Amino acid sequence: MKNFKTYIEKNKKRFLNELFELLRIPSISASSDHDLDIRLTADLIKKHLVNLGLDNCEICETQGHPIVYGEKIINKNLPTILVYGHYDVQPVDPLELWDQDPFQPYIKKTKIHPEGAIFARGACDDKGQMYMHVKAMEYMTSTGNLPCNVKFMIEGEEEVGSEGLAWFVPRNIEKLANDVILISDTGMIANNIPSITTGLRGLSYVEVEVTGPDRDLHSGLYGGAVANPINILSKMISSLQDENNKITIPGFYDKVSEMTKEERIEVSKIPFSKDNYQSEIGIESTYGEKGYVTNERNSGRRVRRSYENRRY
Ligand SMILES: [Zn+2]
Repeated sequence: MKNFKTYIEKNKKRFLNELFELLRIPSISASSDHDLDIRLTADLIKKHLVNLGLDNCEICETQGHPIVYGEKIINKNLPTILVYGHYDVQPVDPLELWDQDPFQPYIKKTKIHPEGAIFARGACDDKGQMYMHVKAMEYMTSTGNLPCNVKFMIEGEEEVGSEGLAWFVPRNIEKLANDVILISDTGMIANNIPSITTGLRGLSYVEVEVTGPDRDLHSGLYGGAVANPINILSKMISSLQDENNKITIPGFYDKVSEMTKEERIEVSKIPFSKDNYQSEIGIESTYGEKGYVTNERNSGRRVRRSYENRRY
């Protein structure tokens, strides 16, 4: 560990320059105006992987943006880690709300980053984290400290739904075979608390159209006697939760496991200030299902997968 820290100190300037070079490319996956930038970023990451001495480095084409791949297999009997990351970024509009050009990275000290943090689009989602793994790999390969096999799979469509990845993975099962997937595309409880994210909340959205009479109706003649679609829609939306804010959709909780007592005790230990949480987003009180605290509401319960109790 000591050597690792020394290595970082020794190479910090180069690390920052390389990361800044990546951050300067506006690899916005949602706009075809940036297709060339996406390519440039993929090329640059491939170059980094090649420089590390990884084998079989390639830019894998998909129907969308490409996936960068590289691997170091030192011993087939050792475990294999697959590092996942993405090099695409979110759009930057509205531009006027940025303090500086989002593609001109700079370091700034803030209340939560007293030692300074890098500000740029993609710095913490996910170029920064992805690059951290690349540099950890550099340390291990250049100092002979690589303890296992490592594969890198860095995609360019995470911010637009990863369609290419969904196509690529089932077609490359063998190439991607691994024992552990390492992903740093989530958050940390606090800067000084190493955190492992074991699941993420997804989202589901539907479009519902409620139709009414075939013309605009005079309220004096029809008011109160004919349903107004907006009222019906409001009733439908409000019926999705009961008076305790519990979701009322049949079957919604069927696969959701309740938190164990131990899990709730662990969650209660997370440093969390409800006042800060509220003031940060300008609200006066939190909201959610009765019987749970904020951290349990937003991340406590999950769907238990069938593979979770498997022993390896
Ligand atoms: Zn991300």
